[in-house]
Amino acid sequence: MEAFSYLSHLQCTRCNRTYGIDERVQTCSCGSPLLAQYDLQQAGKRLTKAHLRERPCSLWRYHELLPVRHSRFVVSMNESMTPLIPLPATGRHMDVPRLILKDEGTLPSGTFKARGASVGISKAMELGESSLAITTNGNAGAAWTLYAARAGINISVVMPIDAPMTSRKECALAGADLFVIHGTIADGGKLVQQLVAASDGYDVSTLKEPYRLEGKKTMGFEIAEQFEWSVPDVIVYPTGGGAGVIGIYKAFRELQELGWIDSRLPRLVVVQADGCAPLVRAFQKGERTCAAWENPETIAFGMRVPKALGDFLILDELYQTMGIAISVGDSEIVRERREIARRDGVHVCPEGAAALAGVRRLRQKGWIGDDETVLVMNTGSGLKYVDQLSAGGKEIDLQTRSAAQYHGV
Ligand SMILES: *Cc1c(COP(=O)(O)O)cnc(C)c1O
Ligand SMILES: [Zn+2]
Repeated sequence: MEAFSYLSHLQCTRCNRTYGIDERVQTCSCGSPLLAQYDLQQAGKRLTKAHLRERPCSLWRYHELLPVRHSRFVVSMNESMTPLIPLPATGRHMDVPRLILKDEGTLPSGTFKARGASVGISKAMELGESSLAITTNGNAGAAWTLYAARAGINISVVMPIDAPMTSRKECALAGADLFVIHGTIADGGKLVQQLVAASDGYDVSTLKEPYRLEGKKTMGFEIAEQFEWSVPDVIVYPTGGGAGVIGIYKAFRELQELGWIDSRLPRLVVVQADGCAPLVRAFQKGERTCAAWENPETIAFGMRVPKALGDFLILDELYQTMGIAISVGDSEIVRERREIARRDGVHVCPEGAAALAGVRRLRQKGWIGDDETVLVMNTGSGLKYVDQLSAGGKEIDLQTRSAAQYHGV
């Protein structure tokens, strides 16, 4: 029989313990994240590249490789596939002629967090959850609140008080039970645990359940499909909790197992901010996990995560793919955001600008070669962060001078 999903079991990333797909689980009993596993042999017999071509341009086109088993539980807003945008002018300026941006800013709520929310909420509905809770730097809260509203399920959102006001307002708009704290996303995690314990709720924070990651994974599927079942040489990701990087890597592994892409993987690049770079510090020391970063500080709030629960997975993937982790300063982020808007007309978020600044650095160091294809993930729309921009404009008094006199001012 043709299945909607070929989900087979859940597996611990550290101790390999397995769990059944109907069990209500968060992390493994050992505390590490669980990953969803599929019967890829069966899936490969049913699903072909040709099938995909006939399907709608939505992340649900990959439903056999997503965890929701019955289509009636799917909560979707017809998310588009996000566009690949070549950046010829910025690429020339950086001496990276094959520079391409994947723009996640076109998704509902304006960030890639919509992918995790669509798949995660759908699965929560299928599992019969009635109350969700999440700690977030803002964008995940915004996306999850919107999808929760659409599904008719309650959600509590905890975010730092200095998180971007835009996402806080998005949560309030769509009816989240919103808590703001004087602390980081990690401190918020402790409050979420209390909320969940008190209300028999489900913790949907990064890697606290296995399904949100599956939504992020669709970025990798899309990249491979848009590159006609090959992969770029380098993928650059602005990294906080790391679900984006882990998801993309998982996607490529599954596609390899299906035989849809060959054994060459892109070199993964993790970009963080100088003011919060726990993964970079650990990578430079060759370590397998990272220590928590004290007093994290950056304008790229999506990357302000002092310690990722999946740190060992991210670092492993960097070592496996001959990748690298580097950090950039806030002033570089601001400059790069302006550069790309003026050169190629694309308005990226600060995190996307950080990734571009990372490319510039890596090219200067020679780590990126002459003719390599470099894919940069713009994780969100720049429009969510206009408060970081200056308004500019020359004021004209039409009472005292005619408009013609101002021509060429
Ligand atoms: C969440 C977020 C990130 C970081 O993504 P992770 O998957 O947590 O590493 C980057 N950019 C934006 C805009 C985000 O919202
Ligand atoms: Zn375990």
